[in-house]
Amino acid sequence: MNNFSLINYENVMTLFKGRTPGQVIIQYTDKCNAQCPQCGMRVTEKYQRSTLTEAVVKRIIDAAAEKGIKAISFTGGEPFINFEELVSLIKYAGLMGIPYIRTGTNGFIFLKHEKDDFKGSITRIAEKLAETKLRNFWISIDSAVVEIHEEMRGLPGVIAGIEKALPIFHEHGIYPSANLGINRNAGGLVNWPRSRPSQDEWLYELFVTSYRKFYSFVIDLGFTMVNACYPMSINGADNELNAVYGAASEDYIVSFSTQEKILLYKSLLHVIPEFRSKIRIFTPRSSLYSLIKQYEGQREYGFPCRGGIDYFFINAKDANTYPCGFRGEENLGKLWNLDIKNLDNRPYCRNCDWECFRDPSELFGFITAMLRNPFAFLSQTWKDKNYYKLWIEDLKYYQACSLFNGRMPPDYARLVRLDRKCDKKYLGIKEEKHANSNF
Ligand code: SF4
Ligand code: SF4
Repeated sequence: MNNFSLINYENVMTLFKGRTPGQVIIQYTDKCNAQCPQCGMRVTEKYQRSTLTEAVVKRIIDAAAEKGIKAISFTGGEPFINFEELVSLIKYAGLMGIPYIRTGTNGFIFLKHEKDDFKGSITRIAEKLAETKLRNFWISIDSAVVEIHEEMRGLPGVIAGIEKALPIFHEHGIYPSANLGINRNAGGLVNWPRSRPSQDEWLYELFVTSYRKFYSFVIDLGFTMVNACYPMSINGADNELNAVYGAASEDYIVSFSTQEKILLYKSLLHVIPEFRSKIRIFTPRSSLYSLIKQYEGQREYGFPCRGGIDYFFINAKDANTYPCGFRGEENLGKLWNLDIKNLDNRPYCRNCDWECFRDPSELFGFITAMLRNPFAFLSQTWKDKNYYKLWIEDLKYYQACSLFNGRMPPDYARLVRLDRKCDKKYLGIKEEKHANSNF
């Protein structure tokens, strides 16, 4: 079991230097066997696929460990296509002392749940993962409606398989998280107002209902943890992005206008407190609050992304390092040649909402600002105490969730003690008024 703690000497010193604990996302492969409409790596796309060799990934892990990186994610495509090698790489990262190791699946391993050997095959997977120091294991869920999720992924029957598999993982001390890539189908298929004039309250209620439905759905399936990946739609300032990570998409299903994003993030800010004592929810409300402010026009609000400073993305095609999966024109070369300590330590980028980098940048950015310039920090927080309150609540919640240790069961008694109703004054939206007949 991993016992990664935020408050230890090394991390505190890192924060004092204006840096945050580093993370590297390794795109182990861009091969995939699913057909998600929201992703450029779906199986139906025809292009030359790549998988990093075991030797190269080990070299990347060696370099990450040597440079003091704390978190490694193995992502895809679908990393579980090469399960045995993936397990060996996770083991290796654990041996090299990386405390925070994550990976996940689109769920294809849970297909054919009706077969006699299903339980045996999932038990073998759980046993192998349990032997490693894997800390978090995510399973993608796109919608609260079974048929919609399965159609989007092209994986019929997968939800029943996930439901059967979760108790087996729990028996092995692994608590998977449901990973929602925010999309228009999250709450079920609805008639989206493509041509309607802006109807803020209508849309807001639609989102609120969707996320209530989604969180209830994953709780009923047996998940104890959930995360939401913010939409990566390309609009406005995002036009400068040149993705090397094929998960970015311009498909309507994940494309939201600025106004839609504001309402979407407000609805999450609203709904999350209703479920925080029932399931561990990664999504920090302070981060949502900053995104809302930024989309409302205060582009400099909150803390910029630390992609390219403390966080990096390794591309499966060339094994090179990039500031993130979306700044493809900034090839930083091989991680083992990168002088991370001497990189320009002035974050500035807010060009996308990639939660893998934006959420920790926001949470740690607050601490580094406090340590480096307490007066500026105090004057800023005085101007907007809502942000400060949300950040403190997030921190307490993260502690109550043992920093989302996916090798520990939830402590619901602790979570209940933090139970809060959302204060609507944060949101700038009055009470919900209209029932929505589409649900
Ligand atoms: S979202 Fe994930 S599972 Fe779906 S096509 Fe893309 S890489 Fe594959
Ligand atoms: S905000 Fe972060 S993840 Fe997004 S483009 Fe900028 S550095 Fe990359």
